[in-house]
Amino acid sequence: MRCFECGGDIVEKDVSFVMYTKDKKPIFFEDVCAGVCVQCGEKYLDGHTLERIGNILEEGDREITKRVSVPVASMACAHH
Ligand SMILES: [Zn+2]
Repeated sequence: MRCFECGGDIVEKDVSFVMYTKDKKPIFFEDVCAGVCVQCGEKYLDGHTLERIGNILEEGDREITKRVSVPVASMACAHH
């Protein structure tokens, strides 16, 4: 398989990312098995994985295995 964006090689990797439920609650997905382009970093998720993510976003709390609090660095533009 080749990257649709740049034609680079796709390698299988565990990736982490945040998605939002319908009511705008963030869910952090960790160690999701995905194909990642070695050149541009584009992520490819297979149909089964996308379906599970969809279900988790629909079901919300039922699929949550743990909760973490994440330190947030605020980097907004300074308005003086
Ligand atoms: Zn690429």
